[in-house]
Order: sequence, then C-alpha cells, then structure tokens
Amino acid sequence: MRVILFGSPGSGKGTQAMLLADALGVKQISLGDILREEVKKKSDLGQEVKSYMERGALVPDKLVSRVIEENVDGGGFLLDGYPRNLDQAKELDEILKRKSSAIDSVIYLDIDEQTIIDRLSKRRVCKSCGANYHLKSLPSKKEGICDRCGNELVQRKDDDPQVVKKRWAVFIEEVDKILDFYQKKRKLVKINGRGGIEEVFKRLKQELQ
Ligand code: AMP
Repeated sequence: MRVILFGSPGSGKGTQAMLLADALGVKQISLGDILREEVKKKSDLGQEVKSYMERGALVPDKLVSRVIEENVDGGGFLLDGYPRNLDQAKELDEILKRKSSAIDSVIYLDIDEQTIIDRLSKRRVCKSCGANYHLKSLPSKKEGICDRCGNELVQRKDDDPQVVKKRWAVFIEEVDKILDFYQKKRKLVKINGRGGIEEVFKRLKQELQ
C-alpha cells in the first residue's frame, strides 16, 4: 500500500503515520524528520534547509523532491509531510511513474487552527531520538526526559507561536489545491483529526479497512 497522510502542522500526522506504518507493515517516510536529521548532521542539504525550517517556510521544491526520489521505491510506504503544494503533488506522481508505481490513498487529517496551536505549544521532542511528547496528553514519565532514550526533551524552534502562525498560513494557502487534486483522482479520504491519539487512530483504521 502506498498512502499519503496529509494534514496541517500539528494535525498529528507524524504520530499517526508511525502507528499506521506499523499496522500496515510498510515503511514510514516523514519528510520533516528526514530534513531535521540532515540539519542535525550539518550535511550540505541540512545547511541549505535550516533557515527555511526555522522560520516555518517551505524548503524549495527541487531540494525536497530529490529527497523523495531517493526515499521512495516501488514498494509500500506511508508518506507524511509531502506533498505540501500542488507542484509537489504533481512531482510525486512523476517520481512514482518513473518507478512504475502510484499512490493508492490520501488521508486528510482535518483539524482547526486553535487545536493545532494548543498541540504545538505543548509539544516536546527528544533532542536525540526525535520521539514526540505533549505536556498534557502525552507527558514523559520524568519531566523533561525522554522515556525511550533518556535524553533531554526540548521545544522545536518552529513550534514557537509566531512560527506556528506562519506555518498555518503556508498550509492554508495550499490545502484546497492539494485536496482538489486528489479528490479528482478519487483517492481522498477525510478523517476528523480532533481527539486523542487512540481515538484518531481508530478512525483511521476503520476508514482504511
Ligand atoms: P513537519 O515536521 O512536517 O512539520 O516539517 C517541518 C518543516 O520542514 C516545514 O515547516 C518545512 O520547513 C520543512 N518541510 C517539510 N516537508 C516539506 C515539504 N514537503 N516541502 C517543503 N518543506 C518541507
């Protein structure tokens, strides 16, 4: 299965993608995670994308399409964070065509702005392994420390409220065009993204079944 999990920043797509990839037995490709890893490694790509990410802007299409081309193959996957504009959606079709493949389903996690502001302002991530927490709904056992690897939890720079507003604006500008693109191909499934992690995951599984 080749599935895209699409949603605004803070819609929970990263968390749900991880759970769903596990359940479907396919690999998860999270573009945001891949780019953050490159920034951490200070690779050439990482240095090029860092400033865009810190201010909540999209990284130029030609840089991210290269990353997608390298990570997508003919097999199953669950993709989150790509596409984020119409050109990327078209580019993804071309990339998959070259690999004799195509998208089966696009799941849209629908959510409102206030919910994402609340989620992102209380999100904490592990500096080392990237695990996600939430101060209220998914706290770590020991405050400020990752349950998985014992390293420090921090707030992502782009979860600063001003940057979140910018990320939301970037999302709103493109969302309808992307939804329309996949709707016309009859690949779009809309899911209510509000509620707890388990609750949303249950909806996702029901829809895919
Ligand atoms: P995310 O973790 O998915 O919220 O992505 C974090 C940041 O990575 C975004 O705010 C962008 O700066 C960058 N990014 C992730 N995916 C894309 C994409 N498809 N196109 C351009 N930039 C992206």
